[in-house]
Formats: sequence, structure tokens, C-alpha cells
Amino acid sequence: MEEQLRQSQKMEAVGQLAGGVAHDFNNVLTVIAGYANILKMDLPDDSQHLELVEQIAVASERAAQLTRGLLAFSRKQAMAPQQTDVGEIVRRVEQFLVRVIGEDIQLKTELLPERLPVFVDLGQIEQVLINLAANARDAMPRGGTFTIATGLQEAGAGGAQAVIIVSDTGKGMDEETRNRIFEPFFTTKEVGKGTGLGMAIVYGIIQQHKGSIRVSSTPGYGTTFTIELPLLTVETSLGQDQVAPFEPPSG
Ligand code: ADP
Repeated sequence: MEEQLRQSQKMEAVGQLAGGVAHDFNNVLTVIAGYANILKMDLPDDSQHLELVEQIAVASERAAQLTRGLLAFSRKQAMAPQQTDVGEIVRRVEQFLVRVIGEDIQLKTELLPERLPVFVDLGQIEQVLINLAANARDAMPRGGTFTIATGLQEAGAGGAQAVIIVSDTGKGMDEETRNRIFEPFFTTKEVGKGTGLGMAIVYGIIQQHKGSIRVSSTPGYGTTFTIELPLLTVETSLGQDQVAPFEPPSG
């Protein structure tokens, strides 16, 4: 309960911070990066200051990346859900995912032949798959397989859920990482590589779609994420109340 409260306060604080500051901060960064580029062009090729200016440019790009992550995190309220099919979402983003994971990793899709109608924000669910793919890539530096499978399962009271199972054959994670994976700013990556926002964004999006996500992982063997999304039925499509307001994770 304590932990749940702490987590929800943290999520809320980050959300507010992101909404209030990220946009203005981005403008400041644009100025820094812009002047760094002008300086770079003005400096003679043999200037010893070139390297320093280059570092300013790299650091401001890194800060811009972090800001974009924060903006994505705070954008959780703005949803534009539509009726679509889970297989369709995967097929739409497939080529992009291939680029994300790179050529050493094989993308496998195992899609259920029947339609899995859902009422979701397409861009946001694509974002979920992209974030999962980026982490899978980082977990498989020597290559491997990244698999996206879809399924259908009962959800009690006659309801049903669409399931998306995303797995990799990467290095897996220890128990602490598994427990903290959805926490904003939690990262095990070296400075400059990870922001710790990818999975917090994933969690927020799935939560907002009234779905759920869980992780299982074996160090040395790989990781599997199971995402459940409410299936669009005649009743729910009439009510169209599939979209929940954002709530922070429950521990
Ligand atoms: P980041 O990728 O910036 O570190 P994330 O929120 O996306 O932030 O992930 C948090 C942490 O969870 C990562 O640093 C990593 O330790 C762990 N993680 C996420 N996905 C995987 C995965 N597929 N395999 C192993 N570890 C993972």
C-alpha cells in the first residue's frame, strides 16, 4: 500500500513536470543546439574548440531526447481511439520494428488468423511495440529473435480479451529489475543510453486502454511481456467506454 502510494505520487509528479516544463525546455534546447551549430560552421577546421562545440551539440541532442520522452509520457491523456484489429496494428508497424531491431535480430510474427477488434489509439499501441522492440534490441547485442504473437482469451463474465505476447531471446533481467521495470526513470543502462521512461510510457498507455501488462523473464534466456486489451464487443462498441483515465501502476 505504502509502495503503491509512493509509486502513484511519483508518476503524478513526473506527469506534471513533463507537461509543465518539457515544452519550454525544448525551446531552450533548440536555441543551444542552433548556436552550437552556427559556432561549428564559423570555427576554422583546425580550431581546438571544434571538439567542445561538438560536445555541446551532442549533449543538447541527448537532452532533447529526454525531453521528447517526457513529452510522450505526459501526452497520456490525449487519446484518439478508433476501432481497429490487433493483427492490423502489428502489420502496420512491422517494417518500422525491423528497422528498430536491426539486421542481427530476426522479427517473427505469429498472428491469429481471426480478427481481434479493439478500440484503441493506433499511434499509442504502435508506440508500445516500438518501445518493447527497442528494449529487446538492447537486450540482444549479439542478435536473437524478437517475436510478436497474438491470441484471444476469456476474461470472465462472458467477456474476452485480445492478447499480445512480445518476447525476446535476450539477456533477461534480475528480480529487482522485473519489480521496478515500469517505474519512471528506472534504468540499468549506462548514462546516455537509457532514460528509464520507455516502460513507464508503455505501462501508462496500456493502463489507459483498460488493459494490463505483465513481464516474465529468465536471466540469460529472455523476456516475455504479456499485454491484454479488452476486445471490442457489440455492447462495448455501443458504450465506447473502453478508455480509462490514466492511473499510475499498482506496485
Ligand atoms: P530504458 O530502456 O531507458 O532503460 P525502460 O523503461 O524502457 O528504460 O526500461 C527499464 C529497464 O528495464 C531497462 O534499463 C532494462 O534494465 C529493463 N528491460 C526492459 N526491457 C527489457 C528486456 N526486453 N530485456 C531485458 N531487460 C529489459
